[in-house]
Amino acid sequence: MIRLSKQIVDKIEFHAEQTYPEECCGMLLGFSKNGLHHIEEAIIIDNRQDENRRRRFYISPEQYRQAEQLAGKMKMELLGFYHSHPDHPAAPSAFDTDHAMPWFTYIIVSVEKGKAAAMTAWLLNEERTQFRERIIMVGQAAPVPSDRIPASSSHAEL
Ligand SMILES: [Zn+2]
Repeated sequence: MIRLSKQIVDKIEFHAEQTYPEECCGMLLGFSKNGLHHIEEAIIIDNRQDENRRRRFYISPEQYRQAEQLAGKMKMELLGFYHSHPDHPAAPSAFDTDHAMPWFTYIIVSVEKGKAAAMTAWLLNEERTQFRERIIMVGQAAPVPSDRIPASSSHAEL
């Protein structure tokens, strides 16, 4: 499960809509406790993918290093990354699976015709072969409104 505030949801959705029809990406900072990721901050990252920004994102080793430094400065942990899927479902692509790392949370927001739609969160299994969906909790305890989560995946907690 992951927990984040409505403000962070809004920030990610706004970034995703701004960069449409290209993919946006960013990092998620916060705290990890008993396997629960508490996301306290979302930081915008420039999409460094040159070839095809509409379909994939790329975070350079330098950006990754800076992300870890910033997390340290803010006394938080780097918990994961978010990116958008312009006019595609909020599910990880084969590219996403190939480029992900275990432990990190990956948030994906679908953008349909320029408007943020479903938001999902994913965790890679230890074998690095597939993602499992994590439940997103917004605020203290209230779950994300069901219209933001595809019906088929709303109870897919580990
Ligand atoms: Zn993706």
